[in-house]
Amino acid sequence: MSEIKTQLVVLGAGPGGYSAAFRAADLGVDTVIIDAREALGGVCLNVGCIPSKALLHVAKVIQEAKQLSAHGVTFGEPTFDLDKIRSWKDSVVEQLTKGLAGMSKMRKVKHVQGYGKFTGPNTIEVEGKDGITTITFENAIIAAGSEPVSLPFVPKDERVIDSTGALEMRDIPSKMLVLGGGIIGLEMGTVYHALGSEIDVVEFLDQLMPAADKDIVKMYMKTIKNKFNTMLETKVTGIEAKDDGLYVTFEGKQAPAEPVRYDRVLVAVGRKPNGSLVAAQKAGVTVTDRGFIEVDKQMRTNVSNIFAIGDLVGQPMLAHKASHEGHVAAEVVAGKKHYFDPKGIPSVAYTEPEVAWVGVTEKEAIEQGLNYEVATFPWAASGRAIACAATDGLTKMIFEKDTGRLIGGAIVGTNAGEMLGEIGLAIEMGADAEDIALTIHAHPTLNESIGLAAELFEGTITDMP
Ligand code: FAD
Repeated sequence: MSEIKTQLVVLGAGPGGYSAAFRAADLGVDTVIIDAREALGGVCLNVGCIPSKALLHVAKVIQEAKQLSAHGVTFGEPTFDLDKIRSWKDSVVEQLTKGLAGMSKMRKVKHVQGYGKFTGPNTIEVEGKDGITTITFENAIIAAGSEPVSLPFVPKDERVIDSTGALEMRDIPSKMLVLGGGIIGLEMGTVYHALGSEIDVVEFLDQLMPAADKDIVKMYMKTIKNKFNTMLETKVTGIEAKDDGLYVTFEGKQAPAEPVRYDRVLVAVGRKPNGSLVAAQKAGVTVTDRGFIEVDKQMRTNVSNIFAIGDLVGQPMLAHKASHEGHVAAEVVAGKKHYFDPKGIPSVAYTEPEVAWVGVTEKEAIEQGLNYEVATFPWAASGRAIACAATDGLTKMIFEKDTGRLIGGAIVGTNAGEMLGEIGLAIEMGADAEDIALTIHAHPTLNESIGLAAELFEGTITDMP
């Protein structure tokens, strides 16, 4: 049994936790970070954002190479060496987690490996390989993240996988059901489709990626219609594991009448916060029934020396939200007057094509009773999109009607996620349609569609000097 005394303990080393720990250490706070995993980086680096993007890169190249045959360049049918694909993905993760370990060491952040639980408002016990470590702290930041939701009727069978299982890439199933039409399921569906799997997607709601803009998702649906068989407003009611496959029964609008046989079922119905797993109540921290921890704008819980960040404080469960919250919490611990109040948090589905949005969606604008105007630019009219055979795209911007201020934007199309940065910056800086229209966008770029959409906002052109 060992004991450590520190000014700050960070529980969980995902993007929220390591960002908080590094910022605190940079500000001179003596910091300890705890994680059950050996490598820093949490879900995002180890089994989330990064390995999925390595595989999506492979999928994108395969798809682009296939499309080239329409323009006179034909490659042979791809063959797949799963061991090599897996080692490529693992090497990407390793490079980044090693980088984090180096940055942690440089900052003298002490990493305690093991499972941590609060034992009081100033103490945590960590159960690790070498026994128990008791940490006494002045301040704590809880950054324990989230885990996949499982469904009660799903049998325990190695052919039923979650996102972590999908990233392991044990084999390429001939036919896979993606249960849940959210970002994670669609990204993994994109990967497996590129590698040759037949993919069905079932979604309980009437839209894939329910939080995204309706028009953008409509365009996405058009582009994937030959890729995925999508069943909306349909739910899975049972999965029976038999020797020759998983037999899935459906109910709802697009439900097949008979059970359908799959080689794999990927359950991707969302993630649940880990707030209840850290014994936070022993420190007096309130955890909701669903496992979230409530915080104020400075990321402080109901206990004044304990903060919480990342997936376990609420939606959207995204790495960049976690890291920004981490910076806020660390700066407040270090005595600075920082708070978390972004005008928009970008969401990106790195599918092919990508779907990206930030700020208010049109649905939210209607629900909030905002007086707004929409300006859209179809990529079929973009020179760059035509030259790259990427015309299945749309840029949609939402302006406040009275002021012309940009309040939301959504893009579907290749590289939409990279393009979204400009819209996010414009929203955060309070830019209006004229600011964006007068910004000279290079020609021919896909980003031009943002400037051209802004020009379409009523009054922009005539009001220009
Ligand atoms: P996490 O990253 O969840 O890290 C929490 C850490 O805490 C874990 O390492 C865990 O081991 C540790 N922990 C938990 N409890 C304890 C305990 N009691 N003791 C010790 N350690 C503990 N987001 C994006 O923004 N972009 C993407 O492209 C993206 N892609 C994704 C793809 C997949 C397949 C998945 C699953 C997620 C993806 N996400 C993406 C979501 C992103 O991974 C999360 O939003 C992000 O990791 C949350 O960060 P966090 O700091 O809250 O916690």
